[in-house]
Amino acid sequence: MSPAEADEDRLRRDAVAAVRRLDALGLNRGSTGNLSLRCPRDAVDGMLITPTGMGGEGLRAADLVWVGDDGAVDGAWQPSSEWPFHRAVYRARPDLAAVVHTHSENAAALSCLERGLPPFHYMVAVAGGDSVPCTPYHLFGSDALSQAVAAAMRERDACLLAHHGLVAAGRTLAQAMKIAVEVESLCAVYLKLLPLGEPPRLDAAQMAAVIDKFRGYGRARRR
Ligand SMILES: [Zn+2]
Repeated sequence: MSPAEADEDRLRRDAVAAVRRLDALGLNRGSTGNLSLRCPRDAVDGMLITPTGMGGEGLRAADLVWVGDDGAVDGAWQPSSEWPFHRAVYRARPDLAAVVHTHSENAAALSCLERGLPPFHYMVAVAGGDSVPCTPYHLFGSDALSQAVAAAMRERDACLLAHHGLVAAGRTLAQAMKIAVEVESLCAVYLKLLPLGEPPRLDAAQMAAVIDKFRGYGRARRR
């Protein structure tokens, strides 16, 4: 196995483990979620993405589908029908290497109100700003949805898709997973508050201080 093949093999195994974790956490409802990892081959940018309609239980590393930036597909299965917006995120954000998408219950519920998360809790800054936006509704797999996701993800590491679910991305798969889990949890808390009225919001300076502190947190620190 060449070094490049070994790298891709590791990405495939990481992806399978992440899908199983989404299942275990209850975020991958009925195999509706999907995830991808940036995976260039030679000089061609591309990604490994979960196949369409396949949940964590039967998923094997070999089932991941490679999709090139030009749309070329290499694999035994069809890639997730939502691969176009994964590509749109990688094109919009060269710094990102993993995209996680779920129809998890709380994110989907809030998205059906066509609302994102305001700065009601400091952890909203996990997505890199003082809100998690909600993009307008567009048909899954459509160019319009890809454009809307790319526009939102240029400013944030996560967004909600109206009447659909959530997208989270990271420089690593672990980071994308962490953001997806956190946004789902924040959506649960926000939905719990809404019947009591719109909660008070942290102000711009308070959120800026959190974002600033998170910048230092992401890096490993030697003592
Ligand atoms: Zn979806």
